[in-house]
Amino acid sequence: MKRALVCGAGGFIGSHLVKKLKNEGFWVRGVDIKHPEFSPTAADEFITLDLREKANAGKAVLGPLDEVYQLAADMGGMGFIERFRIDCLRSILINTHMIEAAHRAGADRYFFSSSACVYNTELQKDPRVRALKESDAYPAMAERGYGWEKLLSEMFCQEYWAERGFRTFIARFHNVYGPWGTWDGGREKAPAALCRKIIKAKDDGSREIEVWGDGTRTRSYMYIDDCLKGIDMIVHCDELTATPLNLGTSELVSVNELVSIIEEVAGFKVKRKYDPTAPLGVVGRNSDNTFIRKVLGWEPATSLRDGLAKTYSWIEEQYFDRKAGKRTVR
Ligand code: NAD
Repeated sequence: MKRALVCGAGGFIGSHLVKKLKNEGFWVRGVDIKHPEFSPTAADEFITLDLREKANAGKAVLGPLDEVYQLAADMGGMGFIERFRIDCLRSILINTHMIEAAHRAGADRYFFSSSACVYNTELQKDPRVRALKESDAYPAMAERGYGWEKLLSEMFCQEYWAERGFRTFIARFHNVYGPWGTWDGGREKAPAALCRKIIKAKDDGSREIEVWGDGTRTRSYMYIDDCLKGIDMIVHCDELTATPLNLGTSELVSVNELVSIIEEVAGFKVKRKYDPTAPLGVVGRNSDNTFIRKVLGWEPATSLRDGLAKTYSWIEEQYFDRKAGKRTVR
């Protein structure tokens, strides 16, 4: 039986990944600083550890391991990463210790979850932005804090392969969303936050939501199932060793369009109150999928409408369960 370690197994993508690996017959150890919020873990073993500590990275990799998936990071949506840059930068400790520990433990494959925030911010000043291809990360001018941490951690992966022959894989995720993603509390991202606001406006009769910015900023959003499929394909493609690549959709939408799709899903129209003083991030960002299509013959394809319909109903259930005082961990 193959053995996998998932770091960040208490988080959104990590808890889905644990479940997927279990379904594929892996023995799985999950590690996180906290337990999953929305579902019991599917891992065979779950250990709570702060992976910024070197000794804890050593504990995480004890015993034989075939594959290591490094998704642990102190992160959140724009509201979090613009405000807590030091916390984001300190995830470099996780990535420094984990790659070394995994290499020493003799793992076969190591996956690192990077981000579209590594891209040069100078190229993202227009809502009708040219989609970003992998080479656009250099010359570097990444997103302050979070983006620079990811870029340096990518470099670790590339050098561990170049110098020590450790087989690493790097995906640059573009805005992942879906059930089990944080939907309130300050770390949530735009799709979950907007679903929650519309659910609340519908429930309390206020009919109005606050939208960060003026609604014209653009992004692309990837549904969780595509993210998981992409990780699997990337980790098992030797040609992609130590080669960062985009994992996202190329369906560019504005915040206003995102709100309209959620309104359609909700069957409810809201009045939009714009807040130009809120954290906003770059003006526009999209994924150029030429490279992933060429190497894997695939790209994320779930339509935003379909993905949001599933996400909206999950958040709605969470919202009303919480309101009724029910446990929201399933
Ligand atoms: P998440 O916040 O749900 O998961 C990250 C997990 O890391 C959390 O459970 C958190 O508790 C854990 N963690 C934080 N600090 C830790 C520490 N010191 N020790 C151990 N665990 C710690 O986020 P996610 O959306 O599941 O993202 C997973 C990975 O993908 C992250 O590395 C993130 O930067 C990256 N990523 C995500 C997106 C996205 O849109 N979700 C986009 C780009 C990149």
